[in-house]
Amino acid sequence: MAEPYVRLENIVKRFGPFTALNGVNLDVHSGEVHALLGDNGAGKSTLIKVMSGVHAPSEGTIYVEGKPTVFNSPRDATVAGIGTVYQDLAINPLMSVTRNFFMGRELYKGPRGLGIMKMGEMNEIAHDEMLKIGIDISDPTQAVGTMSGGQRQTLAIARAIHFGAKVLILDEPTSALGQKQQMGVLKTIKKVRKRGDIAVIFITHNEIHSQLVADRYTFLALGQVIGAGKKDELEHNEIRRLMAGGAEMRD
Ligand code: ADP
Ligand code: MG
Repeated sequence: MAEPYVRLENIVKRFGPFTALNGVNLDVHSGEVHALLGDNGAGKSTLIKVMSGVHAPSEGTIYVEGKPTVFNSPRDATVAGIGTVYQDLAINPLMSVTRNFFMGRELYKGPRGLGIMKMGEMNEIAHDEMLKIGIDISDPTQAVGTMSGGQRQTLAIARAIHFGAKVLILDEPTSALGQKQQMGVLKTIKKVRKRGDIAVIFITHNEIHSQLVADRYTFLALGQVIGAGKKDELEHNEIRRLMAGGAEMRD
């Protein structure tokens, strides 16, 4: 088995006297979709905030490509290739697809110093990157407000990949969408996986969605891993039991 792109080792996160994460291990492999499952309050968001430089861990180590790494800010994590697609997507519906795609990153370093990319070139990049993961936006100059929720999700994912994400963290990407849109996002996740060079962390409450796309599972409950493994190693019944497990432990 190849080395994980990111490894979290024995992560502890305390908020004052409260321990939100208590010794969590997580391996994140390129080309895999890793479902992170658990009830509300299990620690899923806290764990990805540690991985994306929002929270410093109280204890434990983050390895990126085998090297112990400290993130002092979300920016450090972005530079290390960790891209988070937040639930609000950081998308402005009044602006065009292309403007949202570049979001202030229209500058490039050319042979004669800094330049600004040509609009036509930017439209082409935005269009092509989105097409690669499953949607064909015929006119990237259209306002994002005209796009569906699923298409906006794809835009945010394509943007993160274009700007260097090697780990793509999706926190409940399907929870606010209708069923057809949900399937669109799952299709996008499958396309991203097919590239082979990107790891997806897929946080969801939906067992069926995780079954459809995940290669690997980690189940959290009360800040601890209660089960983990590759899909082909875990029996279906075991997965069901673990999904119910968080609720049992809470009661
Ligand atoms: P999940 O995403 O699995 O629903 P969270 O990671 O958001 O869970 O929360 C895990 C636990 O940590 C919860 O009990 C939550 O109240 C607590 N928690 C999360 N963030 C903070 C914070 N900034 N300060 C204090 N407690 C927090
Ligand atoms: Mg959460």
